[in-house]
Amino acid sequence: MTQNMDNRFSEQFYRQTVNQFKVGNSTHKERIKKLDALKHALEVTYKDAIRKAMYDDFKKPALETDLTEIYPVTKEIKFVKKNLKSWMKRQTVDTPLALLGASSYIKYEPKGVCLIVSPWNYPFNLTFGPLVSAIAAGNTVILKPSELTPNASSLMSKMVRELFDESEVALIEGDVEVSKELLKLPFNHIFFTGSPRVGRLVMEAASAHLASVTLELGGKSPTIIDGTTNLEKTVERILFGKFTNAGQTCIAPDYVLLKSDLKTKFAELFKSKIKAFYSESAETSGSYSRIVNKDHFKRLVSYIEEAKSNKSIVVSGGNYLEGDNYIEPTLIVDMPDDSKLLHEEIFGPILPVKTYSTTEEAIAYINSKEKPLALYIYSKHQKTIDLILNNTRAGNGCINHNLLQYLNHNLPFGGSNNSGIGKSHGFFGFEAFSNKRAIMKQHTIGSADLLMPPYNNFKQKLIDLTLRWF
Ligand code: NAD
Repeated sequence: MTQNMDNRFSEQFYRQTVNQFKVGNSTHKERIKKLDALKHALEVTYKDAIRKAMYDDFKKPALETDLTEIYPVTKEIKFVKKNLKSWMKRQTVDTPLALLGASSYIKYEPKGVCLIVSPWNYPFNLTFGPLVSAIAAGNTVILKPSELTPNASSLMSKMVRELFDESEVALIEGDVEVSKELLKLPFNHIFFTGSPRVGRLVMEAASAHLASVTLELGGKSPTIIDGTTNLEKTVERILFGKFTNAGQTCIAPDYVLLKSDLKTKFAELFKSKIKAFYSESAETSGSYSRIVNKDHFKRLVSYIEEAKSNKSIVVSGGNYLEGDNYIEPTLIVDMPDDSKLLHEEIFGPILPVKTYSTTEEAIAYINSKEKPLALYIYSKHQKTIDLILNNTRAGNGCINHNLLQYLNHNLPFGGSNNSGIGKSHGFFGFEAFSNKRAIMKQHTIGSADLLMPPYNNFKQKLIDLTLRWF
């Protein structure tokens, strides 16, 4: 690996390059020790500081911080601890009879020096979550969290300095320019979480060194409601998924496709459930986050203003407070098809609802867009569920609930094409940061030795037999 001395991060990169074999040859116990230290920092030493940072960044409620920033990472660590020893073992595989005298196995070796670039919406979860998998797989890592949540980033920087030597894990704070400069270095693997737009740039940068990539991206995640489930429960669950983190969740239901006869009932339930969640006002409830910054606030307000000025109906919400980056939980129906709400990833507390008459119509609508990150189906009919699952494509999903699929580490997490490349969580995260090195061991006598030149009739017969039988 060559050192790029023009780059201001070359020094850190070089130190990790030199250290990579020491880290890579660590035992499962040594890796677990590092993960235990991170777990303790998240659960005990820094728990209050993490809650404070998230509140300072966008008024995220403490309970939501515990549930969505701390718990997924500590759960990931627990899962890794239980399984790492067996994941690290060489995996013996069968060898074809034609190669008699050889045996084969797969060795999971670390990719080497890895870069993790994370977004702002779940900063601790989406920076430390992939870090757990990278450490489990024996890599050295440079982390680059988002500049949009400065309190979270600076706290993570302190934690990383305290927990790790810079030659194994380093955190570099900074904006887009810092990210671009880091991407010029010849990393062995780049794990990026963010928008599809930047995902393309990351992949382009990775191509210069043929670095492998995991791209955890976003998009518009549809939610289909066919009316066969309990509508009150369905609305409650959708509101939980949509308004946690004020809708700034990659797998939040982006829009609802609703059986047309349910529109009035859905609107009534939406209003009553919002009241049940946030009392008279989400603004003063203490259970509702703010929008991360002014730019995103303005973007979201533009959707509401567009809806107010075209033929859409703002059924509930629609108010906002500029100084506080507060946007009321909002339900909008009957949008014209060219509304921004139906084309851009919303990533905020606005739920557009589009009605449909037949399941085929809902499927065709979903397939007219990019493959979503998540697709949710609320139905009691297995035939409807199968029809939708078999005729759409998506990274992941949940039936009769939402978001929860993220918390099962036995499931791979990720998108498909525009919503992502590669998977994370549990074994799939370990796999993302590992090279599956294929090893064949030839023992003293091997059938392949019989096939070497000079070729003759006997060897031709052997080949004929091999082609026919093995
Ligand atoms: P973003 O793509 O704007 O930024 C993500 C990271 O990339 C940040 O650290 C940022 O500094 C860096 N970055 C930004 N522009 C860059 C450039 N031109 N070159 C190099 N690096 C650059 O995303 P965001 O606004 O932080 O997050 C929101 C997006 O992330 C949404 O699309 C959402 O769906 C997606 N997301 C996906 C997941 C997932 O797990 N699939 C999770 C959370 C968020």
